[in-house]
Amino acid sequence: MKILVLNCGSSSVKYQFISMTTERVLAKGQVERVGTDHAVLTHCFEDGKNIKSVSDIPDHAKAIELVINTLIHADYGVIPDKSEIRAVGHRVVHGGEKFATSVLITEEVKDKIRECIDLAPLHNPHNFRGINACAELLPGIPQVAVFDTAFHQSMPMISFLYALPYSEYQLNNIRRYGFHGTSHRYVSERAAKILKKKYETLNLITCHMGNGCSITAIKNGKSFDTSMGYTPLEGLVMGTRCGDIDPAIIFTMASKQGLSISEIDNLLNKHSGLDGISGISNDMREILKQMEAGNERAKLAVDIFCYRLKKYICAYYGAMGGADAIIFTAGIGENAAPIRELACENLECIGVKIDKTKNKSMIGQEGLISTKSAKTKVLVIPTNEEIIIARDTRYIVERLK
Ligand code: ADP
Repeated sequence: MKILVLNCGSSSVKYQFISMTTERVLAKGQVERVGTDHAVLTHCFEDGKNIKSVSDIPDHAKAIELVINTLIHADYGVIPDKSEIRAVGHRVVHGGEKFATSVLITEEVKDKIRECIDLAPLHNPHNFRGINACAELLPGIPQVAVFDTAFHQSMPMISFLYALPYSEYQLNNIRRYGFHGTSHRYVSERAAKILKKKYETLNLITCHMGNGCSITAIKNGKSFDTSMGYTPLEGLVMGTRCGDIDPAIIFTMASKQGLSISEIDNLLNKHSGLDGISGISNDMREILKQMEAGNERAKLAVDIFCYRLKKYICAYYGAMGGADAIIFTAGIGENAAPIRELACENLECIGVKIDKTKNKSMIGQEGLISTKSAKTKVLVIPTNEEIIIARDTRYIVERLK
């Protein structure tokens, strides 16, 4: 069975085409600058080589058509025709409280995804466009929705409810939803395999640190708490997002500085975090380079980033009554050894001790970075959200009558 995995963003469509017998990625790539007459397709082959092309792509439907035409192209396609696409798996950002698992997309499911648009106005509409485009381009082919929020639906009320009037939850759906669920799920399931333990018996702390960063406490194999909240703005320090702040700062920005709601939104989401503190960049590679060159503000950004992470690790360790392992993933988690070292420094009190040599050599690969005697294991596990989307899609499609 071959499955097309799609991730439709505001101006991009990312894809992977996966053969499920071997879980081989036959081709992958992205169409960027969707909505312009100079959209760029980058299509990568199994051997790592790629081709690029520029064309007029007014919308997501045209972008997906381009992807399909590339997959079946006479010269560089990987399948002879589109009948080989057995199913499509979509990343859908927000499933609200309506979806705790992946689902086959039906008219009823589409209505529910539409109802979640208010919760993710910047993401769900594009995911929705991708679903509609596939229905037209691949008629009769089953489509599955895999939600970023679904994994976190197991959180208990003590974790997901804010201390606001209860009516805010009842009437306005204001609660913690959590994001990056597919990634937290992938790395935690993988950790169980590496540690040779039953998933349902494990307590894990998973740190997804890319441009967006979130940390999850997984208790007995289920999401118990997570740092992103009603939106992906809460929690850890991120590339351009502030994470946790005192909400009263927003009143001051409005009343004393005269900023509008959208200006504050922009400031907290796009000009804060590593970028805001350092004044240099949102890119951790650049910040680390500048820090090594002696830049004080770069060092401050790194220190605040790691301190926040450390606080969350300890909070979740305590909240779960202990953890078997801590897992680092995504761009920073997989590659930035100095960040992992700093975040785990002086954490012997919770059984954490990093083997510095192992940590330094663990770049973009899977492995243990804690010392042999450490009670709490520390692992680096490169994330793979696409394979979870493909596996869920396969599971659902195989059970269709
Ligand atoms: P996204 O959330 O967009 O998927 P990624 O998971 O690709 O992001 O992570 C992007 C972040 O990872 C950036 O801050 C980038 O600087 C950081 N990163 C990638 N490689 C390295 C590296 N070798 N060292 C330090 N940081 C890295």
